[in-house]
Amino acid sequence: MDSLSRNEAKITELTGLSPSEISEALSLDKSYQGKQIYKWIIKGAESFAEMTDLPASLRNRLENEYGRFFASKRVAEDFDKATGAVKLALELKDGALIECVMLVDADGERTACLSSQVGCAMGCAFCKTGTMGLVRNLSKSEIIEQFLTLSRYGRLEHIVFMGMGEPLANLKAVAGAIRYFNDPDGINLSMRRITVSTCGLVPGIRELSELKLPVKLAVSLVSADNETRSALMPVNKRYGLAELKSALVRFRKASGRRLTLEYCMLSGVNTDRRAAEQLASFAKGLDAFVNLIPWNPAEGLPYKTPSTAEIEAFTNELTRRGISCTRRFSRGRSINGACGQLATSTARRAAKKGEI
Ligand code: SF4
Repeated sequence: MDSLSRNEAKITELTGLSPSEISEALSLDKSYQGKQIYKWIIKGAESFAEMTDLPASLRNRLENEYGRFFASKRVAEDFDKATGAVKLALELKDGALIECVMLVDADGERTACLSSQVGCAMGCAFCKTGTMGLVRNLSKSEIIEQFLTLSRYGRLEHIVFMGMGEPLANLKAVAGAIRYFNDPDGINLSMRRITVSTCGLVPGIRELSELKLPVKLAVSLVSADNETRSALMPVNKRYGLAELKSALVRFRKASGRRLTLEYCMLSGVNTDRRAAEQLASFAKGLDAFVNLIPWNPAEGLPYKTPSTAEIEAFTNELTRRGISCTRRFSRGRSINGACGQLATSTARRAAKKGEI
C-alpha cells in the first residue's frame, strides 16, 4: 500500500482520550467498555481485534465502523545492541515524520525520549533538528503514541521531552500528554519521572510554573555568557540570561523540583576557564545540577567534541567553585538518538528504501 492510500485509511484517534470520552467517541452502549478499551490502549494494543475481552461482535463493529485508532505508523527502527537503545521513525497521519528514542541506562532503566514538534523553530546552531525549521506542533495524541509505541520494546520508567522540538512552544499538548501519563488509573507515571527540556523559552517556563505540574525541568544552557549564548541559541536574543534565571527561580519555588542545567560542550567554544566561571556564577543560587554533555557529532555541523583533557579541566574548575556536576555520555549516540541529533536521518533512509 503506498503512503497516500495508507493515509486515506479511516482513523479514529483514541489515544489521549479518557474512558468516558472513548465511550462517547465510539457510541458504546455500556460505559465499562470505554474503560476496557482505555486499558488496552495503554497496554499498547494497535487494533480492536486484540481486545479479546470485548465481545467478538463489538470488535467487528468497531473495526468496520472506526477503522484504525492508532494514527501513527512505525516506518523505521534502529537498534544499538550494546546499550539496548532503540530509535524509531514514525509517520503521522498527514505523512509528517518524527523520531522518538528509548534509552537504557547502566542499571537497565528505560527512558522514552519524546518529540513535541515536527522540526523546531528555535534554530540552535549546534542542533540537527534546528536545521529543519518548524513544520508543525504535535497533538497530545501524537505525543502519547510515541510513548505507547516505545513501550512495546520494554517497560518505560522515565520520560524526557528532549526529542524534536521545543516542548514549551507546544505546552498545551505537552501538558495534556503529561497528565495522561500521570493518570493513577492509567499509565501512572510519577511527575518526578518526567523531565521537560527547554532551550530557555521564558514565557513557557512561567506558564509551566503556573500550571503546577511538578515535573522536572532541564534547561539547555550551553553558555552562561550572553554574547556566546545569543550566537549559539537565537532564543537568548529575546530572553537573556538574567530573565531566564529569574524564571527558573520562580519555577523552582512553584514546583519544589531541583533544576538541571544541560551544558553541551563544544570544543574551543564554551569550554575554557572563563566559561566555567560564568557557568558557576549562573548556577549559584539556583540549586541546580549541571550535566556536562560532550557534543554529539552531527553531519554538516561545524563543531567538535572536546578532548578528555578539555572536559576534565572544565569539570575540575566547576567542582573547585562548589558546583555539583556530572559528565554525561549519551547512551543513544551510536544510533544518532542523542540530544540534538534527532532529525530526519532515519526518515530519509526509510524513504529511500521505499518503506514510506
Ligand atoms: Fe530546537 Fe532543542 Fe534543537 Fe534548540 S536544541 S533547535 S530547541 S530541538
